[in-house]
Amino acid sequence: MGRITLDQVQKKFGDVEVIPPLDLTIEDGEFVVFVGPSGCGKSTLLRLIAGLEDVSGGEIRIDGKPATDLPPAKRGLAMVFQSYALYPHMTVRKNITFPLKMAGMSEEEKKRRVDHAAEVLNLTDYLDRRPGQLSGGQRQRVAIGRAIVREPAAFLFDEPLSNLDAALRVGMRLEISELHERLATTMIYVTHDQVEAMTMADKIVVLRKGHIEQVGSPLELYRTPRNLFVAGFIGSPT
Ligand code: ADP
Ligand code: MG
Repeated sequence: MGRITLDQVQKKFGDVEVIPPLDLTIEDGEFVVFVGPSGCGKSTLLRLIAGLEDVSGGEIRIDGKPATDLPPAKRGLAMVFQSYALYPHMTVRKNITFPLKMAGMSEEEKKRRVDHAAEVLNLTDYLDRRPGQLSGGQRQRVAIGRAIVREPAAFLFDEPLSNLDAALRVGMRLEISELHERLATTMIYVTHDQVEAMTMADKIVVLRKGHIEQVGSPLELYRTPRNLFVAGFIGSPT
């Protein structure tokens, strides 16, 4: 569960077409990276999928079901925000449980999910701490934990590591890749960092001015970039 299809999805802000009609299929379990220069529409495309922006045209399907008109909470997807979105006065356990507050779920089920997320993320010993008592990497894991407890069909990341220092970023990349292997859930990951794209993705979507320049595995894009923009951006020697 976690196949997402975009059929002629378009976005305009006023008269400005930020995303011209675009087709894209994301397979269940894939790790897909949207990459491209600042302002090319990566966040907008992710927000359209999440339902945080309304499309100006086209259809979005999640596991075959029309999702274009569903509010974010009904899409079964979880957006991972940067760690500064944590509540400083709440414990780690409360922060991770927070998205389940309205879910009408039993306390046992909530606890099971939080304990599972904490175990997957190596946060079991930190559940009673507050975000201010954690390292940057641990705080980012708490932010991911908030998504895991929802057991989403797909995780959506928008440059989650851009506030971390370089050394920590490398470690977190590995952690997110391992999390993907462990959960086998679809992940869509937005970055402007070519190295992140090349090291993390099953499939890279290269965006430029809102349209897709090329879609392919890191190896395909490296070996057979379709044009100089892709070659230059991916850093292949063409
Ligand atoms: P990226 O994430 O790749 O840096 P964005 O998706 O944030 O790019 O932005 C793509 C384009 O859409 C930019 O030109 C940006 O200025 C414009 N844009 C984004 N959000 C809005 C908005 N709410 N209103 C008007 N223009 C917007
Ligand atoms: Mg962005």
